[in-house]
Amino acid sequence: MPKKIGIFGGTFDPVHIGHLRSALEVAEFMALDELRLIPSARPPHREAPQVSARDRLAMVELAVAGLPPLRVDDRELKRDKPSYSIDTLESLRSELAAADQLFLIIGWDAFCGLPSWHRWNELLEHCHILVLQRPDADSEAPETLRNLLAARSISDPLSLEGPGGQISFIWQTPLAVSATQIRTLLASGKSVRFLLPDAVLSYIHAHGLYRASN
Ligand code: ATP
Repeated sequence: MPKKIGIFGGTFDPVHIGHLRSALEVAEFMALDELRLIPSARPPHREAPQVSARDRLAMVELAVAGLPPLRVDDRELKRDKPSYSIDTLESLRSELAAADQLFLIIGWDAFCGLPSWHRWNELLEHCHILVLQRPDADSEAPETLRNLLAARSISDPLSLEGPGGQISFIWQTPLAVSATQIRTLLASGKSVRFLLPDAVLSYIHAHGLYRASN
């Protein structure tokens, strides 16, 4: 049987319940064998994370411990280059069976920016793309993506077939939490309890992360 593997990248600075709920819901809905959270080393599209790669990785590891099918994949942190998705996909593909299905999970906003990604038109050679969309969203794809969507999208994500090549949408209401909000609360000495797993919170406190002086 081909495996079904989802990948969900992010800075995870720090990982929080928004990421985790979303990942778990996609994994269950799609019946994935694995959903890998992939912390990025040097995000090409944004400023440097506030804490070290080692700390971000340790927090994601704590968050998914004992929670299959969620897993951590640290390949982008081992690479001494920008974390382009195409590199990650090629690297993953080299380890998988040809028939294994790969699903790149991205939010609608990120999807709209796809044409600015490095070698973006090769992405579908390696994976399917699952776009997370809010049920109440009233968004139209940018002109540059319309042809791609017309050619490659299918309405039912459960009908995606083969190792890659197609795009589908999962309608999901994200929890109203962000890493920015958590960093701001911590820097001002406020509680972030219930916004992230207790084990992650203990790590943050034990290592003195995200304090105003950091
Ligand atoms: P920041 O506030 O620092 O920008 P963030 O909370 O958005 O961080 P990222 O690490 O940038 O987290 O996000 C990684 C992935 O998780 C992205 O695809 C992003 O769209 C998604 N994501 C972020 N917050 C949520 C949420 N509350 N629910 C579902 N997905 C989320």
